[in-house]
Amino acid sequence: MLLPILSILAALNIGLTPQDRLEEAVAAADRWIDGLAAEIDTLSLAVWKDAELSLEEVESSKRIASWLEQHGFTVEPGIAGMPTAFRATWQNGSGPTIGLLVEYDALPGLSQVAGPKKQARPDETSGHGCGHNLLGVGAATAAIAARHAMEASGIPGRIEVFGCPAEERGIGKVLMARAGLFDKLDAALHWHPGDRNVVSDQSWLALNNVKFRFSGRSAHAAANPDAGRSALDGVEIMNVAVNFLREHIIDEARIHYVTTNGGQAPNVVPDVAEVWYFIRAPRRDQVQAIYQRVVDCANAGALASGTEVTVHLQSALHDILPNTVLGDVLYRHLERVGAPDYDEAAEKLAADIAPTLPEAKERQLAHQVARILDAPVFPASTDVGDVSYCVPTAGLQTATWTPGTPYHSWQAVAQSGSTHGLLAMHTAAKTLAGCTLELMVRPDMLETAREELAQRTGGEPYRCGLPESIGLEDITEDD
Ligand SMILES: [Zn+2]
Repeated sequence: MLLPILSILAALNIGLTPQDRLEEAVAAADRWIDGLAAEIDTLSLAVWKDAELSLEEVESSKRIASWLEQHGFTVEPGIAGMPTAFRATWQNGSGPTIGLLVEYDALPGLSQVAGPKKQARPDETSGHGCGHNLLGVGAATAAIAARHAMEASGIPGRIEVFGCPAEERGIGKVLMARAGLFDKLDAALHWHPGDRNVVSDQSWLALNNVKFRFSGRSAHAAANPDAGRSALDGVEIMNVAVNFLREHIIDEARIHYVTTNGGQAPNVVPDVAEVWYFIRAPRRDQVQAIYQRVVDCANAGALASGTEVTVHLQSALHDILPNTVLGDVLYRHLERVGAPDYDEAAEKLAADIAPTLPEAKERQLAHQVARILDAPVFPASTDVGDVSYCVPTAGLQTATWTPGTPYHSWQAVAQSGSTHGLLAMHTAAKTLAGCTLELMVRPDMLETAREELAQRTGGEPYRCGLPESIGLEDITEDD
């Protein structure tokens, strides 16, 4: 649904060139964000305090969705069968459709106050160790600022904001992509808190998240061991087989596991046991091939121990497919906005946190912006990958944290609730809003981005790694 360039020019033809009009709209979006900074920060801190876990983000999703609603977006709650998911849409005539990705889930066991010392909040056990309170409100801010600027400048187009729950469990965007919700977008934009101000073409690892449940026969472990069939033996034999498998897979792959149920007491042969695996590799097909071999190891464990095993796939994430065309547009806007303008209090908190970090590189927040084109695969996984296979996708990171702050740490929680986190969120929002506005008036760029996606996928359509037969109720049966 790309708008012909002539009709855009007609829509904007009131004395200004399209470029003038775009610059005016971008400046208006920046002003809107600056003018409402206090309200935006209050909302982000409320989500930080909610610290709701994956699929339990009832208050946080409601806060962000109703804020979008107040600004004229039409909200559809509960999309893709997830109660805490939503899509918020705003449309001005006919033009391109740009999607913005919003996340808001926190992590268990990371309760932390917004200060420089490790100290849990007395009223909370979870915390925003990935800064999704900044991510969610920052992306929603970009959408609202772009929407107001589009209306004021007469720029036609459609903005779709996706409230994506459970990023930490790799579920939200996978189920949304499987339901085809990203298919009609011309581009998707996102951002993530971090310790640098960058637009990177870095990919992330694809992942299968899977539980193996063994069932055997219990017996007295001393008096009748011959009558027992140990489910834990099944797990252990499987793990040994997988640890031998490591030698014969690609170096870039990662396999890690925890035993989530290994029996209750040594004197009872365990009749039930469970082991939980993450299998990662740079590409989806590589994960799938290794996954099949891990399933073989599970079956070998069951055969050798005289038990049975069932396989419970929890999620299947794609790697991230970068889009250089979109990334370049996004970076131009990051350069325009510049690094966050940290105040003295922000620099002080960052400097106080630096000595507590295992890999503190420096005590100052990042004051540069950068474009990274050739970087090795980032050794983690995100469900943004599935979006990037459906539609041209680009993202940025801004320095919400002092350099060397690990994801999912108390330091990340503390800084995500602090001034420098909020200031860097404004930078991300302005960058995303500017990029959204530019894409609305540059259908030629969207076309080139679409061609790049087709070239990277070889024209293969997106195929979700999670089979249709696996629903949210299967994934959450242990919750
Ligand atoms: Zn995250």
